[in-house]
Amino acid sequence: MSISWGTIGCIMVTCVCVGCAGPGLEICFIDTVGGAATLIVTPERETILIDGGWPIERDAQRILDALRDTARRPRIDHMIVTHWHTDHYGAITLLGDRVEFGQFYDRGLPEAWLLDPAQMPDQMRAYQRLTSGPTITMAAGDEIPLRQGLIGPRLRLRCLMASGRVDENIAGSPNPYCAQHEDKGTDLSENGLSIVLLLSYGPFDFFLGGDLTWNFERDLVCPKNRVGQVELFQVNHHGLRSSNNPVLVHALAPRTAVMFNGPEKGADQEVLETLRRSPGIQDFWQLHRNTRLSATEQAPSERVANPDDPEGGRAIRVSVGRGGQVFRIWIDPGGEPAQYSCW
Ligand SMILES: [Zn+2]
Repeated sequence: MSISWGTIGCIMVTCVCVGCAGPGLEICFIDTVGGAATLIVTPERETILIDGGWPIERDAQRILDALRDTARRPRIDHMIVTHWHTDHYGAITLLGDRVEFGQFYDRGLPEAWLLDPAQMPDQMRAYQRLTSGPTITMAAGDEIPLRQGLIGPRLRLRCLMASGRVDENIAGSPNPYCAQHEDKGTDLSENGLSIVLLLSYGPFDFFLGGDLTWNFERDLVCPKNRVGQVELFQVNHHGLRSSNNPVLVHALAPRTAVMFNGPEKGADQEVLETLRRSPGIQDFWQLHRNTRLSATEQAPSERVANPDDPEGGRAIRVSVGRGGQVFRIWIDPGGEPAQYSCW
C-alpha cells in the first residue's frame, strides 16, 4: 500500500501528524504456549479477541491480564473463534463469570456434530454454555461492525475466507508467485477451515489466518491476490510447515510477522526461511524460542518474547499511531520497541 510521506513525522512514541493525537490501535499477542489469543483494542476502545488459548486457568488469567493492561476493563465486545481446536477456544470457556462478552463469531458447527451431537466434544458444550444462544456464523465477505472515530482513518475488520471458501467478490491483482506453488494435497482437518481476517486502519493492514493450511493458502491468493500487501502478518498455524506457503507469504509481503509458536511447537525451519526470503520483510518475532533449532536459525533473542521459560507469559505488543502510518512492536514487559513504516 503506498502512502504520501509529506505530512508525517513521528518522534518515538508521539506522532506529530494531524489526526495522530490520542490512543491509536493496540494489539496484544497473548502467550498461550503454542495456542493463540490476539487481543485488539480499537482507537474507540472497543475490544476484539481473536481466539482464546488452551482450556486451562493459566491462559484464562493471561487473557484477563491483557484486558486489564490494554483495555482497562473486563469486557470483550467481539469474540471471534477461527476454528474448533482447543488451543483456539479453550480458555474463553473459563471466563464466563469474569468477563462480559458482547457478540460471538465463529465458523458454525461442523456438519458431523450437527448430524450426530454425540460426537460433539465437551469443550464445544462448554462454548455453547458460554454463548448461551446463537452466534454469528462468519462467511467470506462479512465485516465486523466497529465504532469509527471522528478523526483518523476508517477501521475495518473483514473476513476474507471461512470454511474453505474465499470472497469471490474481491477482484485482486495478479500474483506472480502462484507458479511456484507445490501441492501438498487436500487438508481435511479443521485447520484449513479457519476464519481468515484482515484488519485495516489507513495504510496499516494486519493479516490473521488462524491455522489455515498450505493448499487453502494458495486458494486465497491464486490466481489473484485478494489480500494485497500487508504490514503485519500473524504467522499461520503457529509457524508449522504444513502452513505458510510462500505463494501466500511472499504475496502478502509483510514488513514484519509474529508467530504463536511454543518451545516445541511450530517455528519450523522451512517457515523461518520463507519469512527471511519474503520481499520487504524487516524481521519477525516469536512468542517462544524453538528448542529444536540453534539461536542463529530463528529470530534473534531481542525478538523472542520467552527465550528460556517454557511456561512463558511475556506478550508481544503492537501500537499503531492514530494516523496508521507507523507502528511499533515490543516484548512486554521490558522489551525495546522497534518501529516500522507502512507500505
Ligand atoms: Zn492452533
